Amino acid sequence: LGEPAVEALQPADVRALLPRPGDADHKYTRGVVGVRAGSGTYPGAALLAVAGANTGLVGMVRYVGPADIADTVRSAHPEVVGEGRVQAWVVGPGGGDDADRMLAEARADGVPVVVDADALRHVDGPVRGGVLTPHAGELAAMLGVDREEVEAAPLEHARAAARRWDCVVLLKGHHTLVATPDGRVRVTTTGVPWLATAGAGDVLSGLVGALLAAGLEPYDAASVGSWLHGAAATRAAGGGPLTASRVAVQIPRLVREILTGL
Ligand code: AMP
Ligand code: MG
Repeated sequence: LGEPAVEALQPADVRALLPRPGDADHKYTRGVVGVRAGSGTYPGAALLAVAGANTGLVGMVRYVGPADIADTVRSAHPEVVGEGRVQAWVVGPGGGDDADRMLAEARADGVPVVVDADALRHVDGPVRGGVLTPHAGELAAMLGVDREEVEAAPLEHARAAARRWDCVVLLKGHHTLVATPDGRVRVTTTGVPWLATAGAGDVLSGLVGALLAAGLEPYDAASVGSWLHGAAATRAAGGGPLTASRVAVQIPRLVREILTGL
């Protein structure tokens, strides 16, 4: 029995899947996403994950982390609030030694979790309803194989990881793969090599978390998030260099163009 064919989202698919507010919506019904990220060594990762989450696709973004980082997050993103109920968590970017505790606290809530970066090392069982967002090196470490092995057969390793942890696995790279436990895979090719820059992945995990909180299925949240992230990067780069912050600010503009056709 063969595996299902690998698919690629088209702009019309992304348009149909994008969350959009209705007349009866208020900020809580649009979804609330929480971010647990950042540490003394990597405060910027918290800012970038929040930037990816705070792109207008949910009703509210919460940040939970060290007080000094929370102050910095609120200076850069005055919309962001503190602890409270969320529909999805983003955990791990820049978490360092705190990533273990961040993951445990997020999982205790029982809502879907996007697990990224340092938190990936602490995944020790099924992550049902969630999304793992490793790059090849992180996935290799999780599976106990060499990075080269993952790079030589990314499709097989993404599928194997999705089965093993019973959740969606988003394997980042030049082409990004999003795999489900039952073997479905979407490939994202909207990105650009300029995306190979510090913090780019943090913006992506924030964005995927926002889409989850907005009510998309994990497979759709991961693949739509990856599609938007790549397209926003390509747009922001415009053939030249890129920084991760500029990917995040491009996202609302890109979404507007997709929704309005302008
Ligand atoms: P991270 O390693 O967590 O910072 O994530 C890096 C981001 O950059 C991911 O979204 C990758 O898909 C993307 N990326 C890395 N290298 C390339 C490349 N050569 N071409 C396109 N995208 C890339
Ligand atoms: Mg990363």
